[in-house]
Amino acid sequence: MTSEFSEKLLSWYDQNKRTLPWRDVGDAYAVWVSEIMLQQTRVETVIPYFQRWMTAFPTLADLANAPLEQVLRLWEGLGYYARARNLHKAAQQVQAKFAGQLPTDPPTLQSLPGIGRYTAGAIASIAYGQKAPILDGNVKRVLARVFNVGLPANRPSGTAALWQLSTDLLPDAAVGDYNQALMDLGATVCTPQNPTCLLCPVQSLCQAYRLQNQKERPVMIEKAPLPHYDVTAGIIWKDGRVLLAQRPPEKLLGGLWEFPGGKTEPGENLPDCLQREIREELACEIAVGTPIASIKHAFTHFRITVHFFDCQWVSGEPQALDCADWRWVALDALADYPMGKVDRIIAKQLAAEKLKRET
Ligand code: SF4
Repeated sequence: MTSEFSEKLLSWYDQNKRTLPWRDVGDAYAVWVSEIMLQQTRVETVIPYFQRWMTAFPTLADLANAPLEQVLRLWEGLGYYARARNLHKAAQQVQAKFAGQLPTDPPTLQSLPGIGRYTAGAIASIAYGQKAPILDGNVKRVLARVFNVGLPANRPSGTAALWQLSTDLLPDAAVGDYNQALMDLGATVCTPQNPTCLLCPVQSLCQAYRLQNQKERPVMIEKAPLPHYDVTAGIIWKDGRVLLAQRPPEKLLGGLWEFPGGKTEPGENLPDCLQREIREELACEIAVGTPIASIKHAFTHFRITVHFFDCQWVSGEPQALDCADWRWVALDALADYPMGKVDRIIAKQLAAEKLKRET
């Protein structure tokens, strides 16, 4: 069964593999960047980001030597910014500790920031041909169906069983192709909702197909609903420029710039919250004016609605009390500052309105 499974997958992959810009380029750095970008993100979204990234930082040394702000600006829109910060930090560590060569074995790869078991296995197998297993969402689905795994795939018991299967099934040769075949099969044939079993190369081995329980595999325990918070943010004007604050590096969206503000406290109204937050974060007094927009956004563990207000600076030279840095920024220069999705929407709106006024 083991070799039959890998043989069928490999011959299917030969004929059906997706053409992707990071494939078959023989560059471990490119494999690493693509695998980090692909976490939680669709292939079609990643392709243009990957191409821009490789133009800006063609080698690991280029990335290590780049300023973090440039790295974050290039990543902008992909979300989960810790991935970009970790790529940058890890590239610097590879330069310092491994003479610029990305390590070849999974345990050493896993010692680098942002590289977990899956990414280490992908780099080691795809770039270096090592016999290392992988397990992402696509692979979990394929293995849980073919081997009818009834343990929950998003709990430790199920994950451990699936990692074991992924390890036991590895062929002795062409491991990189085999792992990529598993990923491609999950992405294109054994899809979550309507797997095209009639075109599947491992249909004859698939227990879920035989039992017709594909929709019940993998078993997933439902997650609790995400908590929601109201957040305020101020477009604070002074002499035709607006105040931006840089988020502390260790916090969510660390290193990115934003229109300052923060989360409401129980019973607090939005303008009071904004005035308090600006006082605590930047030691300034502001007058809160009209609401501009309310934008919803979801992170991994919570959801927010950000309420933006037009504001005027009243007094107090800004001080970075609860932020990494601050600047008064002309609207034309907002595009130079890396920002999260929600703040970028407002920054673009402000720049567009200015352009309209001028034309
Ligand atoms: Fe997935 Fe269907 Fe193939 Fe089984 S036969 S692996 S359920 S596509």
